[in-house]
Amino acid sequence: MRAFAAAVTLVATEQTGVVQVAVPLPLRRVFDYRYEGAPPVRGGRVKVPFGARTVIGVVVANRPPQPRRRLKFISEVLDTENLFGEKLLDLLIWAAHYYHHSLGEALQTALPVALRKGKPVTEPSRSHAIRARSPEPTHDREQSAQALLLRAPLQARIYHHLRGSGWVDAGAIRQHFPNSGAAVRRLREKGLVEVAVAVEEKAEMAARAAAASVFCPPTNPITLNPPQQHAADTIGDCTARFGSFLLHGITGSGKTAVYLEAAQRCIANGAQTLILVPEIALTPQLVATVKERLGDRVCVLHSALSAEKRYHAWRRARQGHAVAVLGTRSAVFTPLKNPGLIVVDEEHDISYKQQNGFRYHARDLAIKRASLENIPVVLGSATPAMETRHNAQQGRHQLLRLSDRPGGARLPRINFINLKQHRPFDGISMPLLRAIQQRLAQREQCLVFLNRRGFAPLAQCYHCGWQAGCARCDARLTYHRAGERFQCHHCGHASKAEMACAACGERILLLGAGTQRLQHFLKKKFPEARIRRLDRDQVTTQEKLERELEAIQRGKTDIIIGTQLLAKGHDFSKVTLVGIVDSDQRLFSVDFRAPEYLFQQLTQVSGRAGRATSPGEVLIQTAQPEHPTLQSIRRHDFDGFADHCLTERRAANYPPFSHLALWRAESTDKTAALKFLRHVAAVGNRKLADCRLQQVQIMDAVISPMEKLAGRYRAQLMVRSARRSALHQLLGGWVEAIENDPQARRARWSLDIDPMEIF
Ligand code: ADP
Ligand code: ZN
Ligand code: ZN
Repeated sequence: MRAFAAAVTLVATEQTGVVQVAVPLPLRRVFDYRYEGAPPVRGGRVKVPFGARTVIGVVVANRPPQPRRRLKFISEVLDTENLFGEKLLDLLIWAAHYYHHSLGEALQTALPVALRKGKPVTEPSRSHAIRARSPEPTHDREQSAQALLLRAPLQARIYHHLRGSGWVDAGAIRQHFPNSGAAVRRLREKGLVEVAVAVEEKAEMAARAAAASVFCPPTNPITLNPPQQHAADTIGDCTARFGSFLLHGITGSGKTAVYLEAAQRCIANGAQTLILVPEIALTPQLVATVKERLGDRVCVLHSALSAEKRYHAWRRARQGHAVAVLGTRSAVFTPLKNPGLIVVDEEHDISYKQQNGFRYHARDLAIKRASLENIPVVLGSATPAMETRHNAQQGRHQLLRLSDRPGGARLPRINFINLKQHRPFDGISMPLLRAIQQRLAQREQCLVFLNRRGFAPLAQCYHCGWQAGCARCDARLTYHRAGERFQCHHCGHASKAEMACAACGERILLLGAGTQRLQHFLKKKFPEARIRRLDRDQVTTQEKLERELEAIQRGKTDIIIGTQLLAKGHDFSKVTLVGIVDSDQRLFSVDFRAPEYLFQQLTQVSGRAGRATSPGEVLIQTAQPEHPTLQSIRRHDFDGFADHCLTERRAANYPPFSHLALWRAESTDKTAALKFLRHVAAVGNRKLADCRLQQVQIMDAVISPMEKLAGRYRAQLMVRSARRSALHQLLGGWVEAIENDPQARRARWSLDIDPMEIF
């Protein structure tokens, strides 16, 4: 390979051209390469020699020929068309620039794995339609369909799915029945299905016809109420131009119905809709609702999907075969042949912010993308982010409000249980216990929320006070009953739990409560009750989550204990009591966004109660019932809370009244990260003095709030600016200087633009 790379290093001549190529390496620059003959297409992949290796990059621009420079040749052109589309490529270039990240890596994020590895873009030529057929008439009774399907359960399920459906898109069958390729082949061999390998258009028509016949016709099962109708009309009137809307609707106000109405209009105009949801909210319920409304030509994208399915969905979206794309964060980069609308549900959710590598914010990029594509974008939330609310107040988003729950359902009553007066046992106070008992007697469902897995978050010696801590992190170990283990929830390290003190040998006490302890305790108190625990220990796969949620829906559960996993997106219509075990962790956080996150979380969880006709009740256990944030949660007073919060942010000069960037560094050496960031600060301060950007403020480098994590010592450096442009002007040269600084090799470092979590 090295010899080859050397051989193609030639001096450019007039006959050949030059293109800029972004390579998937952590380098914040692009490279020039030469080509001969027809220019490689912008947005297409090329193989290029890079050092001693060959890498797969993407052509991002054409360059005028530069005769005097020695440039290497492109070794192979892989694509003849722009894989992303012009606007999406522009978005990615913009984003790499804005987040000061390697463009090559950003482009990788947007490509399916197969394409990153250089596989050709195969058209889904298998986008044929299939249908069931009766087996050939024969005198051999063994040949009946039933007999042919004996001992082949998957084949039987597919066959029965297809029976009476007419032609069905093969892609839909693959989505519906994962890993069904072999089964379909066998069915074909047995003569039980026939496959129409039609030309693209024919297959498309067949698929369309199939979608219309198999799945419910896309009629709206819900009659929108006037505020919903107004919102849908306002969004619907915005066609073929950019417009951004904040759909601020209380929990259960029917925001989904508005999105779907807007999406349906967009689809009726022949355009595609992109719907983004937070990682955790991609529930089977939501997917089913969307498919029911928009038909089967919806493709779903999330992290649990296999690479192959992602690729399939990516292609369907890119070719315009999918009318809607429903996905989590990275779905914002899905290529769309004919985009018409973007929806960002729960826009405040911080899972939209990527927390490592390419640290983009999918909501912000959705807005940018909509403006590049000239289409509307809808941000929906019951508790908009302070940035979003501020932008709406400034007139940058048009505000649409839904202030009631349709059908007369009311918001739940929220009350506090003062933990100073009612000491909890195993996490649960007497008043909460009595309330649960009462609901159980009425045969109603209760939900008990605690965002802490495990049995006990603290293992401490009763004699000398020694606490079990993680050797690799500044964190305590959580005791887990399953396997009697201590687990670190930060680095994942687990070990056998020693129940004797490591310091004095005395007995260890398990203090505080996690979800396992709640389960244990409630089981003891209510032996008859059917209790389900939903947390990451219990619900390890999407299938398990689906099973659990279905059981809850069908009323097969009396008490649901859960973490964040069940806070959002799920419609638990039978739950009438929500108990919040611990709300105080966030009241004393160092993060200036903590009150906002607390408000969002408690509103979400409370929103699970009383969504049907029975009125709901929420009981929050707290030692601080007078706390202003909790008081505004009790009154369902988002506006009051937000006004107060924004006033504080303005006074303290925090976002949205300033813009932040956070340098982070970590090292196994105890002092290296901090030393390195002091150096970064010095470099920055020199640049700041040079370019006289008064609005920018470089703070001191400090040790991170949790200094040690997974064996590394961490430090951070905050930069703040009143003006975004000034911040980016400074960062441009600053990052470049650090990237080329030999000291940068002493620590792992990263730069986070608009950081959402300060730790
Ligand atoms: P949100 O996302 O705003 O919290 P959802 O969209 O989940 O609320 O709607 C809550 C419930 O209200 C759902 O069960 C939905 O079917 C129902 N719903 C929505 N709009 C209407 C309407 N116009 N009439 C009756 N029920 C509605
Ligand atoms: Zn001890
Ligand atoms: Zn740890």
